[in-house]
Amino acid sequence: MTTYDVAVVGGGPAGMEAALATARAGLSVVLIDEHHELGGQYFHPRAASVRARLGEHRPEGRVLAGQVVAAGVEVLTGTTVWAAESSTLWVRSDPAGVHAVRAERVVVATGATERSLPFPGWQHPSVVSGGFAQHLASSDGVAVGARVVVAGSGPFLLPVAAAITRAGGRVVALVEAGHPYGVGAAQIRSLRHPGKLVQFARELWPLLRSGTRLVQGSVVRGVQTSGSELQSVEISALDGNSSPFRVAADTLVVGYGFRAQVDLLRLAGARCVVDEHDNDLTVDVDAYGRTSVPGWYAAGETTGIAGSLAARAEGALVAAAVVADASGRALSAPPAAVRRARREHAFAALSRSLYPGAGELARKLMDSAPDETQLCRCEGTTVGQVRAADAGSSADVSAAKTLTRAGMGPCQGRYCAPALCALRGTTPESLASRVPLRPVPVADLVASPLLSSGELTDTVQEA
Ligand SMILES: Cc1cc2nc3c(=O)[nH]c(=O)nc-3n(C[C@H](O)[C@H](O)[C@H](O)COP(=O)(O)OP(=O)(O)OC[C@H]3O[C@@H](n4cnc5c(N)ncnc54)[C@H](O)[C@@H]3O)c2cc1C
Repeated sequence: MTTYDVAVVGGGPAGMEAALATARAGLSVVLIDEHHELGGQYFHPRAASVRARLGEHRPEGRVLAGQVVAAGVEVLTGTTVWAAESSTLWVRSDPAGVHAVRAERVVVATGATERSLPFPGWQHPSVVSGGFAQHLASSDGVAVGARVVVAGSGPFLLPVAAAITRAGGRVVALVEAGHPYGVGAAQIRSLRHPGKLVQFARELWPLLRSGTRLVQGSVVRGVQTSGSELQSVEISALDGNSSPFRVAADTLVVGYGFRAQVDLLRLAGARCVVDEHDNDLTVDVDAYGRTSVPGWYAAGETTGIAGSLAARAEGALVAAAVVADASGRALSAPPAAVRRARREHAFAALSRSLYPGAGELARKLMDSAPDETQLCRCEGTTVGQVRAADAGSSADVSAAKTLTRAGMGPCQGRYCAPALCALRGTTPESLASRVPLRPVPVADLVASPLLSSGELTDTVQEA
């Protein structure tokens, strides 16, 4: 079996940039992504039929993907990494099934997942995430609904609402848990980023023009439905100091920002630390993406949320570290990538200071969530069941998982972990990263020649 110099997991802006630069430096590189085309979340390619009608979406992503292929990178799309042990990645694809990919060095660029916080009715089909609504609007040109409420917290809500409006939907209300829209010290500091201010104005303008109601300091408490139809959304102040009110809508888009996807890095043993603002884990990396495990690196939103430009720059920086470590030569980082990463992270930090921490938000929302609220959609566990679980200690989140099955379904807690940790008053550190990271059909494991040859080790076989 080939042992590559470098395996890059994740074909978004960060992973593509890392694969391209390491391949151009003469290393043998494999780039793995579970999607069927390269691009990740930001360069998410349009389906061929939509492309024929609307043209290319964010064409620079196609250009980058073309450069990756031309540089000789072996691209494995439709391939999911579900386990890892030192220099071996266990992957699954169709029709190959389960197999191993080996590399001297691994760059993890698996991006982020959306942060959801449950409320009664969030599992209704007319309640969707910001990422879904954004992809539908900006990539496919389709508004997710005719009368839409966009709610949650964070800078992503505004571009989502703007994209829905441009696609022909009416955003009747934008409901933000914090108070970012106003004039304060942080907003004044944002004058240092004029390009971002222009982008902000471009996104705000269609909403102002179409009469979107801006509600700050408030959150969604529930939805009123009739069968599969959404009728209205119930909103009240985050601190509970005002009476709830309803806004008629056919669709609710709700999201509380993004969480770095560190499960593969944790499995590899990379040190992660708790970010207190969001009560979430971030991987401990140096300025060039080296983790605490020799030979393992991280880049892009896996290392923190700062947008696609920062992700691309970090892909170039991690590549510089990989090339230096592989060759024993001094590290030579592209100055433009250093400047870009610094600038984008400075803006991300400024932007973050405008919004309430996700940890505090999760605690407040979970404290007031009724018992019947569904917490884990994979297993159907409710908030009340988690509250009632006799876990011995309120902070023993693993025991609560075992007793209620919350977080043990196909998503492995990726979506319910923030709420589960808020309910048990703990951090996601106490939720271990487990094999398989993604569902793997048992038939594929059984059919794998690796099983009979003994190559799948005990840890992986136990999965
Ligand atoms: C749902 C969603 C929608 C978004 N939409 C936008 C948007 O419209 N505009 C915007 O500015 N920003 C958007 N963002 C933010 C955006 O993700 C980043 O700014 C940018 O794409 C980060 O680049 P990245 O390379 O770090 O990660 P990503 O672009 O997220 O790429 C990560 C890649 O890793 C792959 N991957 C993850 N785990 C595995 C695994 N185990 N095995 C194999 N492959 C794996 C994924 O399939 C993905 O392609 C969105 C984020 C999310 C989560």
